[in-house]
Amino acid sequence: MELIERQHFLGAPDFRERAPVINFVLPCYNEEEVLPETASRLTRLLEDLEAQELISPASSVYFVDDGSRDRTWPLIEELATTASRFCGIKLSRNRGHQNALLCGLMSIHGDALISLDADLQDDLGIIADMVRAFRSGHEVVYAVRRRRDTDSFFKRVTAEGYYRILAAMGVNLVFNHADYRLLGRRPLEALRGYREPHLFLRGLVPLLGYRSTTVAFDRAERFAGESKYPLGKMLALAWQGISSFTPYPLRLITGAGVLVSLVSLAMAAWALALRLLTNEALPGWASTVIPMYFLGGIQLLGLGVIGEYLAKVFESGKHRPRYQVESICGQWRAP
Ligand code: UDP
Ligand code: MG
Repeated sequence: MELIERQHFLGAPDFRERAPVINFVLPCYNEEEVLPETASRLTRLLEDLEAQELISPASSVYFVDDGSRDRTWPLIEELATTASRFCGIKLSRNRGHQNALLCGLMSIHGDALISLDADLQDDLGIIADMVRAFRSGHEVVYAVRRRRDTDSFFKRVTAEGYYRILAAMGVNLVFNHADYRLLGRRPLEALRGYREPHLFLRGLVPLLGYRSTTVAFDRAERFAGESKYPLGKMLALAWQGISSFTPYPLRLITGAGVLVSLVSLAMAAWALALRLLTNEALPGWASTVIPMYFLGGIQLLGLGVIGEYLAKVFESGKHRPRYQVESICGQWRAP
């Protein structure tokens, strides 16, 4: 710890001469179908990068098993016995991709960590460029998608719209970047200081600062198996991103409240004017019932959003751990 704190003040470490130890973190949830292929491609990649002296031979691959119910963990254990560069962490149950990834980021040391998905959708071909960017002084390297043509029309439109809406609400996100990134030691240490239980890592990392850059890639189709991010989980993550980073929806409700109140005032003035100045009778039922339902709806929505934020305070107050490690395997290297 002391050493790390000193490094904070000493500035970014210099990797122009020494090849850095780059470790890889891959959260895995029921990935038995892709894991062997992922492991063999990573082995080839690491051997290649080591031969080019881009990374140190002490670099390792860490699989975080997010409470899988298939043969993912036995496979990871098997990999760890066959090659010293493979290690594993098993969470005690499924905690979701963000928590599994966080567990890796919190537990693994090295000069830098690269996080990527286990399903080979993240193009391994750009890792050399990411490492080069790191060695030239960028402590955060974001992999961003060049196109979204491997996504369904629905996912493409909603995902891009989402990034734009968040940007409009003042949340600083890297456009079309998810969780494929390299983090140097100093940003990692900084990230470890963020204790919030509602994780949206792609929103947190830009808050850390440090010199950063992007590398573009094309996202492939999933190598095998099916997505572990069904619509429900995706919506939950999307809402996490909004409600953990901006009070904007609360303001929206205030705005709607003000608007509806003004409209009601105008309606009251209109009704009064009709009563006092003309002989016309007010149209009765619709003008009473519709605003009632409308206001009821807005109020319920408002309460719901406020409740969501309140629930976050409630959850945070408990200070529960974000994940529990059940076992580890492989040759863990000291920091
Ligand atoms: N994942 C996880 N826990 C979960 C869901 C997913 O660790 O509860 C992992 C999964 O194994 C994969 C990564 O998160 O390595 C991304 O998931 P997936 O590929 O299913 O998402 P998609 O690419 O379809 O958005
Ligand atoms: Mg995927």
